[in-house]
Amino acid sequence: MTKFICETKNLSKKYKDFYALKNVNLTIPKGEIYGLVGENGAGKTTLIRLLTGLNFKSEGEIILFGHTDNLQYERTKIGCTIEMPALYKDMTASQNLEVQRIQRGIPNKECIADTLELIGLSNAGKKRVANFSLGMKQRLALGVALLGEPEFLILDEPVNGLDPTGIIELRELLKKLVKEREVTILISSHILSELHQLATCYGFLHKGELLKQISAEELNEECKRHICLRTDNIQKTTLLLEQKGNINNYSVYPDNSIRIYECLDNVRMISKLLSSNGVIIDEISVQGENLETYFENLIGGRKNV
Ligand code: ATP
Repeated sequence: MTKFICETKNLSKKYKDFYALKNVNLTIPKGEIYGLVGENGAGKTTLIRLLTGLNFKSEGEIILFGHTDNLQYERTKIGCTIEMPALYKDMTASQNLEVQRIQRGIPNKECIADTLELIGLSNAGKKRVANFSLGMKQRLALGVALLGEPEFLILDEPVNGLDPTGIIELRELLKKLVKEREVTILISSHILSELHQLATCYGFLHKGELLKQISAEELNEECKRHICLRTDNIQKTTLLLEQKGNINNYSVYPDNSIRIYECLDNVRMISKLLSSNGVIIDEISVQGENLETYFENLIGGRKNV
């Protein structure tokens, strides 16, 4: 079984001379919730449309469930919501799901009740979709995508327009899907903090290019405030920090930098301690930022995110 549910290699989409996507190399491991983050116009929907076969690529390769050929078959294992799906406004949630079930030839009638239960709309009863809140419509859209029990769920901006409670409910539902149904999820948003506490890895898209892929742990680590320290002698530095500075909460990175997670308001004490013991300090600064600042810095300080 392949480790990756979805991969792209140098995937590009060109409209005349304009690249909506350029050489995107994306990898989504099985069982992950992949947060695709990018400001308006970054190329998120374009990428999703290529993956789901709604649009043709210009260059590059798409690999789904380890296969590059017969992608139309592989795509039958994908459930997707792109923007708001066409829901019948005069019908109830249950009737909408039933129409979709019949259209897709899904034999098992029980899947309707199971799906309504899963998306928390079992009690919507005879209420017509026209009278649904946005959150209820979003959940029903998710239910439509879940009908065929997909292995890979792609959600384009599902958080758009949801209130904080709606976001929490969606987050819990998606976590449940990963845990109970082993679904892999790709979820896009233009707001990084909305995906926080949900995504297990992230891809940052900017002007059609995938700038970075990073795990949630790595991102949290990057955003954790710390003192970044570089000196001419790591061993002596760590010895001094522990024995004379009583500082134990630190890690040494492969690039020979030291990150200290305590004593953030007393950088001067650390620098005095080291220099008075003959250690040459090349760099000492407080680093770490909130999620939005991290994203802004990554894309070059733009505010429009
Ligand atoms: P949003 O968050 O606003 O939905 P997005 O990240 O989903 O943005 P896309 O919709 O993928 O961005 O658009 C990426 C770029 O490609 C934009 O500059 C858009 O104008 C352009 N684009 C998309 N579709 C077409 C098209 N059919 N013809 C020409 N340009 C297009």
